[in-house]
Amino acid sequence: MIDAGLVEHFRRICGHEHVLTDRHELRTYESDGLRHYRSPPAVAILPASADEVRQVVRACHDARVPWVARGAGTGLSGGAIPVENGVLIVLTRLNRILEVDLDNQRVVVEPCVTNAAISKAVGPSHFYPPDPSSQVVSTIGGNVAENSGGLHCFKYGFTTNYVTGLEIVLSDGEVVTLGGKELDRPGYDLVGAFVGSEGTLGIATRITLRVVPEAEAHKTTVGYFESIEQAGQAVTDIVAAGMVPAAIEIMDKLTIEATESWTHAGYPLDVGAALIVELDGSEAECEARFGDVMEIYERNGATGTRVAQDENERALIWKARKAAFAAMGYVSPYYYVQDSVIPRTRLAEVLKRIDELSREYGFKVANVFHAGDGNLHPLVCYDARNAGELERAEELAGAIVVACVEAGGSITGEHGVGLDKKRHMTDMFSEQDLEAFQRLRCAFDAEQLANPDKVMPTPRLCGEVPGPYRKHPLEQAGVAERF
Ligand SMILES: Cc1cc2nc3c(=O)[nH]c(=O)nc-3n(C[C@H](O)[C@H](O)[C@H](O)COP(=O)(O)OP(=O)(O)OC[C@H]3O[C@@H](n4cnc5c(N)ncnc54)[C@H](O)[C@@H]3O)c2cc1C
Repeated sequence: MIDAGLVEHFRRICGHEHVLTDRHELRTYESDGLRHYRSPPAVAILPASADEVRQVVRACHDARVPWVARGAGTGLSGGAIPVENGVLIVLTRLNRILEVDLDNQRVVVEPCVTNAAISKAVGPSHFYPPDPSSQVVSTIGGNVAENSGGLHCFKYGFTTNYVTGLEIVLSDGEVVTLGGKELDRPGYDLVGAFVGSEGTLGIATRITLRVVPEAEAHKTTVGYFESIEQAGQAVTDIVAAGMVPAAIEIMDKLTIEATESWTHAGYPLDVGAALIVELDGSEAECEARFGDVMEIYERNGATGTRVAQDENERALIWKARKAAFAAMGYVSPYYYVQDSVIPRTRLAEVLKRIDELSREYGFKVANVFHAGDGNLHPLVCYDARNAGELERAEELAGAIVVACVEAGGSITGEHGVGLDKKRHMTDMFSEQDLEAFQRLRCAFDAEQLANPDKVMPTPRLCGEVPGPYRKHPLEQAGVAERF
């Protein structure tokens, strides 16, 4: 419980002005990118160093007070939404790049360095590939917690493929170091377990990242199609031809309308879909593959194409894509970002189902997605000023998640489970799976003070004795056996 004595203690650790209790100041922190959920914390604390984080977490532990870590608050699944009567640990003052070691292709940073600042620090010779569209504001700590992706993950992989070391403050205030600069260490992959743990296993206070050399050349192209199915078939053909482009992204008509209203990047408004394909590598490889991509555009009935003539045009093409979420305000007063992943070969059928659901519910759904990864981002447009619309929009978004799982996909591609998707965990995982997750969580945080009420669908206690053995659904179906 947070009493005046505990608040005073926090102030002694971090300084009076870095411990906020005024309800107007706390409103800044009541939500994240999942704006329709709100819950102000009892106290927001802005520590300046890993040691201050450690002392704050230790004090919370001693008083049995739950806490939530926060980076930039751009998360779309509600992960950084505070817990009622708890503490919000805002990490924005831990924003230093500690070491750039290009000889070893490593960077060591504090958690609230922004994603974009990493590539800036190691450029122009190197870059940091995972690039969420929020990269100018979202933080590496948040990226690690969500295992964030982005436009270049089809070829380069996700955050988890780039974190080699972590310093973590556990929920009892102990500081542990996992991994280091080397790529792999013997023993359990605890760095891998922490990446994507959504703030439930502790707070990352120092992060070591791998960066890679910048490619010699890029070739960025856009194909315009009458239908999203044609664009999707072009993606299938590109992958089937053995190409691994640096990025393959699709925007549908509604998304183009929104993003063009803001960025004026020159996308035509009379097309059904735009497919952006970026090749990278040596000049010779890009030139050779460029011809193949153009041939595939044509074979799939492209009504037009665009090729970036220089870096400025390349940046403009990407600016429009990266602005897609934010620009939705031009076509709808409210929207709900859904995030699911499906096997790429099921794209056409799932997009058709989304279209059916959109008609059934009477809400527009814009589609913008990482086509190479099969990572869909349906944007459900609604108007919260009309009674019941938010609830129906959530219902529609939920039906899309179920359709993706039924197609062999996952409830989240890159935005995490958080508060938003925890109700869908049972669509994918059996009770036994959830128990295994819970045991891992308890090994890090036995008191469950770190971001409680997130990820797991039902409250569980660490002392719970696991139930008797029950067959996994795959065993029941005869697909897998235990040995
Ligand atoms: C316009 C827009 C576009 C986006 N595009 C993408 C995209 O392309 N790809 C993508 O993957 N995501 C995208 N996102 C989602 C979001 O930006 C990412 O999830 C991002 O990683 C969140 O970072 P953050 O600093 O804002 O974290 P927050 O929202 O502050 O926190 C997210 C989670 O991380 C935890 N956390 C934060 N810092 C730490 C830490 N140091 N240690 C432990 N836990 C911590 C929090 O408790 C919370 O659970 C987008 C969001 C927006 C608004």
